[in-house]
Amino acid sequence: MKKHKSDAKTILTRLGGLSDYLTGLNANGGKTGCFDLPMEILQKNMLFDVSVLYKISNVIGNRLILEIVKILDPDGLRPDLKEGRKLRLFLDKPDKTHVNEVMAFLNKRISHINVPGEGCDIIGYVYLPESFGGDYLFGGDFCGHESSIKDYEVASVEIMCNFLSAILLKTQFKQQAEYDDLTGLFNSGKIKQKVETLLKRFERKPVSTACIAMGDIDFFKRINDTYGHIQGDLVLKKVGDLLSNSLRGVFDVAGRYGGEEFLLIFDETDEIQAFHIIERLRKTIEQTPFEQADRTGKPLDHQYLNITMSFGIAGLYRDPGIQTATDWIRQADKALYESKQNGRNRTTLFKGE
Ligand code: GH3
Ligand code: MG
Ligand code: MG
Repeated sequence: MKKHKSDAKTILTRLGGLSDYLTGLNANGGKTGCFDLPMEILQKNMLFDVSVLYKISNVIGNRLILEIVKILDPDGLRPDLKEGRKLRLFLDKPDKTHVNEVMAFLNKRISHINVPGEGCDIIGYVYLPESFGGDYLFGGDFCGHESSIKDYEVASVEIMCNFLSAILLKTQFKQQAEYDDLTGLFNSGKIKQKVETLLKRFERKPVSTACIAMGDIDFFKRINDTYGHIQGDLVLKKVGDLLSNSLRGVFDVAGRYGGEEFLLIFDETDEIQAFHIIERLRKTIEQTPFEQADRTGKPLDHQYLNITMSFGIAGLYRDPGIQTATDWIRQADKALYESKQNGRNRTTLFKGE
């Protein structure tokens, strides 16, 4: 593991960077929901090249069993260290202090441990929220130079770990406020806010085009009634996946608007284009086999069910009928209602009141 500069100025700059990051999370959010975020911050800010992420899988007597979760920097590591491999560290070499240290660490009384020997050294402990995979240790092989780690470096890493934990917790809270737990899509508040943003832009710049589409699963109640609520949830989750996979990424956005209702936003897209995209999506959903599960959620082999969805699309025009996001969404809802009235499993464009 390579050590970086650790003079007072460098350490202060890095701590300042982490502090700014934490403050900035309020304003611009940053990336959410991905494993890459903690990795990126770790690699940018720590005083060492973090080469391995470990998870403590057990402590048996004086043996600490670590699982290698992720290898971040394979260069300079022993080639036998692979993701998923379990490592045993004998903590009583050379004395019992390491056992005490690890126990204190496990009880969250200290935030880092430094266990030299047996091929891997650990420095730093980060509390990652469950959505990021839980608690990790990070560390790496110091190639026998662990004794060159100074006390103030360990202390700085500890502060950095605390910052990182705070950043991740804050990210998680933010995420919970914006995302729907079941589908991972934006929740209704957030998706409505996105619709509002588009509307405001349109007021400033009326040449921009955008469409929204409201989608609703057909006869969803029957799925719950026939197969149980857990199956219903699995269907919702899969529909969420299908929706997000079919979107183009940065320009298009999907949210769960209600129970089995989804709202999609197509920016810089006219009604005809949106209609084609939605029709493709509707057909994909119709043709997708949904895995069946028993009432406890256990998957049933080779048993599938099919569902369909109805959609309503409303474009954004200079329309006195659209004053607020709710007005616009209501238009998409009306078009959806027409799809339902006309036999479901279809897409309708809003054509005026
Ligand atoms: P339609 O084709 O007219 O849309 O019929 P539908 O059965 O899909 O519509 P209805 O509004 O009658 O029923 C929606 C059902 O969705 C009722 C409700 O219990 C169920 N539901 C809402 N939220 C959830 C959820 O989070 N999980 C599950 N499993 N079911 C949900
Ligand atoms: Mg429905
Ligand atoms: Mg509904």
